[in-house]
Amino acid sequence: MSQLPFPEQVAADAAAQFPTPFYLYDEAAIRENARRLHRAFDWCDFKEFFAVKATPNPYIIQTLAEESCGADCSSLAELILCERLGIGGEEIIFTSNDTPEKDYRKALELGAIINLDDISHIDYLSNIADLPELMCFRYNPGEALGSDSAFIIGQPQEAKYGFTRDQLFAGYQDIRSRGVKRFGLHTMVLSNELNSQFFVETARMVFEIAVQLKQELDIQLEFVNLGGGLGVPYKPDQAAVDLDLISNGIRELYQSMIVPAGLDPLKICMENGRYMTGPYGVLVTRVLHQKQTYKHYVGVDACMANLMRPGMYGAFHDITVVGKPSSSDDSVCDVVGSLCENNDKFAIDRPLPEVQTDDLLVIHDAGAHGHSMGFQYNGKLRCAEVLRTSEGEFKQIRRGETLEDYFATLDFSDFPAAVRS
Ligand SMILES: *Cc1c(COP(=O)(O)O)cnc(C)c1O
Repeated sequence: MSQLPFPEQVAADAAAQFPTPFYLYDEAAIRENARRLHRAFDWCDFKEFFAVKATPNPYIIQTLAEESCGADCSSLAELILCERLGIGGEEIIFTSNDTPEKDYRKALELGAIINLDDISHIDYLSNIADLPELMCFRYNPGEALGSDSAFIIGQPQEAKYGFTRDQLFAGYQDIRSRGVKRFGLHTMVLSNELNSQFFVETARMVFEIAVQLKQELDIQLEFVNLGGGLGVPYKPDQAAVDLDLISNGIRELYQSMIVPAGLDPLKICMENGRYMTGPYGVLVTRVLHQKQTYKHYVGVDACMANLMRPGMYGAFHDITVVGKPSSSDDSVCDVVGSLCENNDKFAIDRPLPEVQTDDLLVIHDAGAHGHSMGFQYNGKLRCAEVLRTSEGEFKQIRRGETLEDYFATLDFSDFPAAVRS
């Protein structure tokens, strides 16, 4: 069973205050996890840039900023979200692809670290403004590293992201000749990876490039960014990543590769999203109906528009029925939403305690890539987000959408208001 960040009664207390469905995040657990990550890497100059797309809510970003995390942005809206929180400069890394000019303009205006996805963007960016003093390139090694990462990110050769190795070397020389003084190297080859050794291998890969850049081009990197991708054990039989194993493995490589090459100090960055918030947010939903046909269906008031991971990736999310511990006589059901799509299922063939209408279900590990992937298909509205603060209070940090929000982009002025019969 994946662990909830709080006793299940907390979800019931929140549901007494807020209409379901809603997301519930735990501030204390998010803080504690961020501290654990930093403690693991206290031997080096380490920086985590929280991948804003995972949970783009100002309260979450601010909480993580207070725990020394920067922000990894990939769009104009994400940049503006940080700007409005007063986060700027090198607290932001802007990792985009197929980037529109207005996004680059905002990143430049904020003084963010700009991480280019392609060599052609050197010219594209310099047509917009003088290149900044510090620049970073995204590396695509062209070969796979992780186990099931390929499922989400794709095989590197098939992935649209990043520079080839040759382009990297040409690119750094080019920007140096154009006056860039400080250099970073980025890669992102893992996603939801639970094999700790793969993160060590990612470090080996970028350290090798760092050493070669120094030896062949006399380019001294200031930082390497290993990307995000630290996994979350969604399934009961999965184990969490071992941060100490990752940190110790990277430390050994640092001592054997980076120090002898004269590259020390080299800052080590990551940009995790899922790992920072995933296990510390849940989706709270209520049973609306039950249906017995060829299968047993438990229909809830949330749907795939609130959390699309199960429908889109077949992702597993543990489910707790509040007040009903799971036991051996659990019966198997599909937990479904109301979307007119048969993949609108939070669980398939899942043993759950016997439920009744109005029972509360807590869908685990929904704190990252959950609400943020929500959509309005079928006229579904995105739900509220609630933070359980470190003081144990519930604070609504995003209201639910209303029908007015849904209709706001439509123009009815050409249609008579009279009711037709
Ligand atoms: C999505 C993404 C991340 C965060 O990924 P997680 O799996 O949530 O850690 C980090 N960097 C880039 C470039 C991304 O696209």
